[in-house]
Amino acid sequence: MQNIVDQIYREMAARNDRGKVAGYIPQLACVDPNEFGISLIMQDGTKYSAGCANTLFSIQSISKVFTLTIALGKLGDEIWTRVGREPSGDPFNSIVQLEHEAGRPRNPFINAGAIVIADAIMMGNEPKEALAEILQFIRFVADDDTIGIDEKVVKSELLNGSRNASLANFMASFDRLRNPVDKVLGTYFHHCSISMSCEQLAKAGSFLVSNGVNYSTGIQVVPEHRARRINSLMLMCGHYDGSGEFAFRVGLPGKSGVGGGILAIAPGKASIAVWSPGLDSIGNSKLGTEALEMLVQRTGWSIFGH
Ligand code: GLU
Repeated sequence: MQNIVDQIYREMAARNDRGKVAGYIPQLACVDPNEFGISLIMQDGTKYSAGCANTLFSIQSISKVFTLTIALGKLGDEIWTRVGREPSGDPFNSIVQLEHEAGRPRNPFINAGAIVIADAIMMGNEPKEALAEILQFIRFVADDDTIGIDEKVVKSELLNGSRNASLANFMASFDRLRNPVDKVLGTYFHHCSISMSCEQLAKAGSFLVSNGVNYSTGIQVVPEHRARRINSLMLMCGHYDGSGEFAFRVGLPGKSGVGGGILAIAPGKASIAVWSPGLDSIGNSKLGTEALEMLVQRTGWSIFGH
Protein backbone atom coordinates (compact mmCIF):
# COMPACT_ATOMS: atom_id res chain seq x y z
CA MET A 1 0.00 0.00 0.00
CA GLN A 2 2.83 2.41 0.81
CA ASN A 3 4.26 1.72 -2.66
CA ILE A 4 0.95 2.59 -4.28
CA VAL A 5 0.67 5.81 -2.30
CA ASP A 6 4.29 6.79 -3.07
CA GLN A 7 3.77 6.07 -6.74
CA ILE A 8 0.63 8.23 -6.84
CA TYR A 9 2.56 11.02 -5.15
CA ARG A 10 5.41 10.79 -7.67
CA GLU A 11 3.04 10.79 -10.63
CA MET A 12 1.16 13.80 -9.28
CA ALA A 13 4.38 15.70 -8.54
CA ALA A 14 5.30 15.39 -12.21
CA ARG A 15 2.02 16.84 -13.51
CA ASN A 16 2.14 20.29 -15.10
CA ASP A 17 -1.57 20.86 -15.54
CA ARG A 18 -2.60 21.28 -11.91
CA GLY A 19 -5.88 23.22 -12.31
CA LYS A 20 -6.54 26.68 -10.87
CA VAL A 21 -6.46 27.65 -7.21
CA ALA A 22 -9.80 29.13 -6.01
CA GLY A 23 -9.66 32.86 -6.67
CA TYR A 24 -12.93 34.08 -5.21
CA ILE A 25 -11.69 33.69 -1.63
CA PRO A 26 -8.43 35.73 -1.82
CA GLN A 27 -6.86 33.97 1.14
CA LEU A 28 -7.16 30.64 -0.70
CA ALA A 29 -5.62 32.16 -3.82
CA CYS A 30 -2.30 32.55 -1.95
CA VAL A 31 -1.81 28.78 -1.61
CA ASP A 32 0.98 27.17 -3.66
CA PRO A 33 -0.61 25.03 -6.42
CA ASN A 34 2.36 22.66 -6.33
CA GLU A 35 1.44 21.25 -2.94
CA PHE A 36 0.14 17.68 -2.89
CA GLY A 37 -0.64 15.41 0.02
CA ILE A 38 -2.33 12.05 0.46
CA SER A 39 -3.12 10.04 3.54
CA LEU A 40 -4.98 6.81 3.91
CA ILE A 41 -6.14 5.16 7.11
CA MET A 42 -7.12 1.53 6.83
CA GLN A 43 -10.00 0.11 8.85
CA ASP A 44 -7.54 -1.35 11.37
CA GLY A 45 -5.88 2.04 11.86
CA THR A 46 -2.78 1.47 9.73
CA LYS A 47 -1.75 4.72 8.07
CA TYR A 48 -0.06 5.34 4.71
CA SER A 49 0.87 8.87 3.66
CA ALA A 50 2.93 10.70 1.05
CA GLY A 51 3.70 14.31 0.11
CA CYS A 52 2.61 17.13 2.42
CA ALA A 53 0.23 14.94 4.39
CA ASN A 54 0.81 17.00 7.54
CA THR A 55 0.39 20.46 6.01
CA LEU A 56 -2.73 22.27 7.13
CA PHE A 57 -5.17 23.44 4.46
CA SER A 58 -8.64 24.96 4.46
CA ILE A 59 -11.13 22.09 4.47
CA GLN A 60 -13.95 24.34 3.21
CA SER A 61 -16.94 22.25 2.10
CA ILE A 62 -15.54 19.03 3.50
CA SER A 63 -16.66 20.46 6.86
CA LYS A 64 -20.22 19.91 5.60
CA VAL A 65 -19.87 16.15 6.15
CA PHE A 66 -19.29 16.84 9.83
CA THR A 67 -21.98 19.50 10.21
CA LEU A 68 -24.49 17.17 8.56
CA THR A 69 -23.48 14.42 10.97
CA ILE A 70 -24.00 16.76 13.93
CA ALA A 71 -27.35 18.01 12.61
CA LEU A 72 -28.57 14.43 12.14
CA GLY A 73 -27.50 13.66 15.68
CA LYS A 74 -29.45 16.62 17.04
CA LEU A 75 -32.55 16.53 14.86
CA GLY A 76 -32.64 13.08 13.28
CA ASP A 77 -34.78 12.68 10.20
CA GLU A 78 -36.57 15.96 10.90
CA ILE A 79 -33.67 17.66 9.12
CA TRP A 80 -35.04 16.34 5.81
CA THR A 81 -38.04 18.63 6.09
CA ARG A 82 -35.61 21.53 5.68
CA VAL A 83 -33.15 20.21 3.11
CA GLY A 84 -33.40 17.62 0.34
CA ARG A 85 -31.16 14.72 -0.57
CA GLU A 86 -31.00 14.90 -4.34
CA PRO A 87 -28.02 15.90 -6.47
CA SER A 88 -28.39 19.49 -7.61
CA GLY A 89 -26.78 19.36 -11.04
CA ASP A 90 -25.99 23.03 -10.46
CA PRO A 91 -22.85 24.83 -9.28
CA PHE A 92 -22.10 24.81 -5.56
CA ASN A 93 -23.20 28.41 -5.03
CA SER A 94 -26.18 28.43 -7.39
CA ILE A 95 -29.37 30.26 -6.43
CA VAL A 96 -31.66 29.24 -9.33
CA GLN A 97 -33.23 26.09 -7.89
CA LEU A 98 -34.06 27.82 -4.64
CA GLU A 99 -36.74 29.96 -6.22
CA HIS A 100 -38.44 27.03 -7.94
CA GLU A 101 -38.26 24.90 -4.82
CA ALA A 102 -39.51 27.46 -2.31
CA GLY A 103 -36.17 28.03 -0.62
CA ARG A 104 -35.56 24.36 0.29
CA PRO A 105 -32.06 23.45 -0.90
CA ARG A 106 -31.54 20.25 -2.86
CA ASN A 107 -28.99 18.71 -0.50
CA PRO A 108 -26.84 19.47 2.57
CA PHE A 109 -23.61 19.80 0.59
CA ILE A 110 -24.37 22.68 -1.76
CA ASN A 111 -23.81 26.06 -0.10
CA ALA A 112 -27.50 26.79 0.44
CA GLY A 113 -28.03 23.38 2.05
CA ALA A 114 -25.03 23.75 4.31
CA ILE A 115 -26.25 27.18 5.41
CA VAL A 116 -29.56 25.58 6.46
CA ILE A 117 -27.62 22.87 8.33
CA ALA A 118 -25.59 25.56 10.14
CA ASP A 119 -28.86 27.23 11.11
CA ALA A 120 -30.26 23.91 12.37
CA ILE A 121 -27.19 23.20 14.50
CA MET A 122 -27.40 26.63 16.14
CA MET A 123 -30.84 25.98 17.65
CA GLY A 124 -31.02 29.57 18.85
CA ASN A 125 -27.47 29.55 20.27
CA GLU A 126 -24.77 32.04 19.38
CA PRO A 127 -22.35 31.16 16.53
CA LYS A 128 -19.60 30.80 19.13
CA GLU A 129 -21.45 27.97 20.85
CA ALA A 130 -22.33 26.21 17.61
CA LEU A 131 -18.72 26.46 16.49
CA ALA A 132 -17.47 25.08 19.76
CA GLU A 133 -19.73 22.09 19.20
CA ILE A 134 -18.57 21.62 15.59
CA LEU A 135 -14.90 21.86 16.56
CA GLN A 136 -15.39 19.54 19.49
CA PHE A 137 -16.94 16.92 17.22
CA ILE A 138 -14.20 17.17 14.59
CA ARG A 139 -11.48 17.02 17.25
CA PHE A 140 -13.19 13.98 18.73
CA VAL A 141 -13.45 12.01 15.47
CA ALA A 142 -9.93 13.04 14.45
CA ASP A 143 -8.68 12.36 17.98
CA ASP A 144 -6.74 15.62 17.78
CA ASP A 145 -7.31 18.65 19.97
CA THR A 146 -5.06 20.91 17.94
CA ILE A 147 -7.57 21.35 15.09
CA GLY A 148 -8.75 24.95 14.77
CA ILE A 149 -10.10 27.70 12.57
CA ASP A 150 -8.00 29.91 10.28
CA GLU A 151 -9.24 33.42 11.08
CA LYS A 152 -7.60 34.88 7.97
CA VAL A 153 -9.75 32.63 5.79
CA VAL A 154 -12.85 33.59 7.78
CA LYS A 155 -12.15 37.26 7.17
CA SER A 156 -11.52 36.66 3.50
CA GLU A 157 -14.83 34.77 3.18
CA LEU A 158 -16.74 37.45 5.07
CA LEU A 159 -15.36 40.20 2.86
CA ASN A 160 -16.20 38.27 -0.29
CA GLY A 161 -19.37 36.52 0.81
CA SER A 162 -22.02 38.37 -1.18
CA ARG A 163 -23.16 35.22 -2.94
CA ASN A 164 -23.58 33.24 0.27
CA ALA A 165 -25.31 36.22 1.86
CA SER A 166 -27.70 36.27 -1.11
CA LEU A 167 -28.45 32.57 -0.67
CA ALA A 168 -29.10 33.00 3.04
CA ASN A 169 -31.28 36.07 2.62
CA PHE A 170 -33.21 34.41 -0.18
CA MET A 171 -33.93 31.39 2.02
CA ALA A 172 -34.86 33.68 4.89
CA SER A 173 -37.44 35.29 2.57
CA PHE A 174 -39.13 31.86 2.44
CA ASP A 175 -38.92 31.68 6.22
CA ARG A 176 -36.38 28.85 6.04
CA LEU A 177 -33.93 30.13 8.67
CA ARG A 178 -34.57 30.29 12.41
CA ASN A 179 -31.59 32.42 13.40
CA PRO A 180 -30.55 35.87 12.11
CA VAL A 181 -28.89 35.66 8.69
CA ASP A 182 -25.61 37.30 9.79
CA LYS A 183 -25.22 34.82 12.65
CA VAL A 184 -25.94 31.82 10.44
CA LEU A 185 -23.40 33.08 7.90
CA GLY A 186 -20.89 33.63 10.71
CA THR A 187 -21.26 29.99 11.75
CA TYR A 188 -21.06 28.79 8.14
CA PHE A 189 -17.95 30.80 7.20
CA HIS A 190 -16.15 29.74 10.36
CA HIS A 191 -16.75 26.01 9.90
CA CYS A 192 -15.66 26.27 6.25
CA SER A 193 -12.43 27.88 7.51
CA ILE A 194 -11.32 24.97 9.68
CA SER A 195 -7.77 23.92 8.80
CA MET A 196 -6.72 20.30 8.78
CA SER A 197 -4.02 18.13 7.27
CA CYS A 198 -4.65 15.05 5.12
CA GLU A 199 -3.69 12.84 8.06
CA GLN A 200 -6.14 14.57 10.40
CA LEU A 201 -8.89 14.51 7.81
CA ALA A 202 -8.45 10.83 6.92
CA LYS A 203 -8.64 10.02 10.60
CA ALA A 204 -11.72 12.19 11.08
CA GLY A 205 -13.52 10.37 8.25
CA SER A 206 -12.71 6.89 9.46
CA PHE A 207 -15.99 6.41 11.36
CA LEU A 208 -17.66 6.33 7.95
CA VAL A 209 -15.49 3.37 6.88
CA SER A 210 -16.64 0.99 9.57
CA ASN A 211 -20.40 1.40 9.93
CA GLY A 212 -20.12 4.41 12.21
CA VAL A 213 -17.54 2.99 14.63
CA ASN A 214 -14.30 4.84 15.42
CA TYR A 215 -11.61 2.21 14.83
CA SER A 216 -9.22 3.41 17.52
CA THR A 217 -11.65 3.83 20.40
CA GLY A 218 -14.32 1.34 19.37
CA ILE A 219 -16.89 4.08 20.03
CA GLN A 220 -20.03 4.05 17.88
CA VAL A 221 -19.94 7.65 16.61
CA VAL A 222 -23.16 7.35 14.61
CA PRO A 223 -25.58 4.45 14.18
CA GLU A 224 -24.79 2.10 11.31
CA HIS A 225 -27.72 3.21 9.15
CA ARG A 226 -26.63 6.85 9.49
CA ALA A 227 -23.09 6.14 8.32
CA ARG A 228 -24.56 4.35 5.30
CA ARG A 229 -26.80 7.29 4.48
CA ILE A 230 -24.05 9.90 4.88
CA ASN A 231 -21.89 7.85 2.51
CA SER A 232 -24.68 7.68 -0.02
CA LEU A 233 -25.18 11.46 0.12
CA MET A 234 -21.43 11.94 -0.36
CA LEU A 235 -21.54 9.71 -3.42
CA MET A 236 -24.54 11.47 -4.96
CA CYS A 237 -23.91 15.08 -3.95
CA GLY A 238 -20.33 15.42 -2.63
CA HIS A 239 -18.85 17.00 -5.75
CA TYR A 240 -21.60 19.44 -6.72
CA ASP A 241 -22.42 19.24 -10.41
CA GLY A 242 -19.34 17.06 -10.84
CA SER A 243 -20.74 14.30 -8.60
CA GLY A 244 -21.69 12.07 -11.53
CA GLU A 245 -18.24 12.45 -13.04
CA PHE A 246 -16.58 11.62 -9.70
CA ALA A 247 -18.77 8.52 -9.27
CA PHE A 248 -17.90 7.49 -12.83
CA ARG A 249 -14.16 7.98 -12.41
CA VAL A 250 -13.61 7.08 -8.75
CA GLY A 251 -16.74 5.29 -7.53
CA LEU A 252 -16.37 6.18 -3.85
CA PRO A 253 -18.39 8.40 -1.52
CA GLY A 254 -16.42 11.64 -1.43
CA LYS A 255 -16.64 15.27 -0.43
CA SER A 256 -14.55 18.00 -1.96
CA GLY A 257 -13.81 21.55 -0.85
CA VAL A 258 -12.61 24.60 -2.77
CA GLY A 259 -9.43 24.52 -0.67
CA GLY A 260 -8.46 21.55 -2.88
CA GLY A 261 -9.10 18.77 -0.40
CA ILE A 262 -11.17 15.63 -0.94
CA LEU A 263 -12.25 13.15 1.71
CA ALA A 264 -13.14 9.79 0.18
CA ILE A 265 -14.50 6.72 1.93
CA ALA A 266 -13.89 3.16 0.79
CA PRO A 267 -16.45 1.39 3.01
CA GLY A 268 -14.93 -1.48 4.97
CA LYS A 269 -11.48 -0.58 3.69
CA ALA A 270 -10.09 2.90 4.25
CA SER A 271 -10.62 6.59 4.75
CA ILE A 272 -8.59 8.64 2.28
CA ALA A 273 -7.76 12.35 2.24
CA VAL A 274 -6.03 14.03 -0.68
CA TRP A 275 -5.09 17.64 -1.13
CA SER A 276 -3.99 19.54 -4.19
CA PRO A 277 -5.13 23.19 -4.28
CA GLY A 278 -5.65 23.50 -8.06
CA LEU A 279 -9.30 23.02 -9.03
CA ASP A 280 -11.05 21.91 -12.21
CA SER A 281 -13.67 24.13 -13.85
CA ILE A 282 -16.38 22.86 -11.46
CA GLY A 283 -14.37 23.58 -8.32
CA ASN A 284 -13.15 20.11 -7.40
CA SER A 285 -9.45 19.36 -6.86
CA LYS A 286 -8.02 18.39 -10.23
CA LEU A 287 -5.11 16.27 -9.11
CA GLY A 288 -6.99 15.11 -6.03
CA THR A 289 -9.55 13.48 -8.31
CA GLU A 290 -6.84 12.03 -10.54
CA ALA A 291 -5.01 10.63 -7.52
CA LEU A 292 -8.16 8.93 -6.24
CA GLU A 293 -8.90 7.57 -9.70
CA MET A 294 -5.43 6.06 -9.75
CA LEU A 295 -5.88 4.67 -6.25
CA VAL A 296 -9.10 2.81 -7.08
CA GLN A 297 -7.61 1.48 -10.30
CA ARG A 298 -4.70 0.00 -8.33
CA THR A 299 -6.68 -1.26 -5.34
CA GLY A 300 -10.02 -2.18 -6.92
CA TRP A 301 -11.74 -0.24 -4.13
CA SER A 302 -14.50 1.39 -6.18
CA ILE A 303 -17.80 0.38 -4.58
CA PHE A 304 -18.83 -0.74 -8.07
CA GLY A 305 -15.97 -3.26 -8.41
CA HIS A 306 -12.85 -3.39 -10.56
N1 GLU B 1 -16.78 28.51 1.97
C1 GLU B 1 -16.96 28.20 0.58
C2 GLU B 1 -18.09 29.01 0.02
O1 GLU B 1 -19.04 29.17 0.68
C3 GLU B 1 -17.22 26.73 0.45
C4 GLU B 1 -17.31 26.28 -0.96
C5 GLU B 1 -16.74 24.92 -1.24
O2 GLU B 1 -15.80 24.45 -0.60
O3 GLU B 1 -17.24 24.29 -2.16
O4 GLU B 1 -18.06 29.51 -1.05
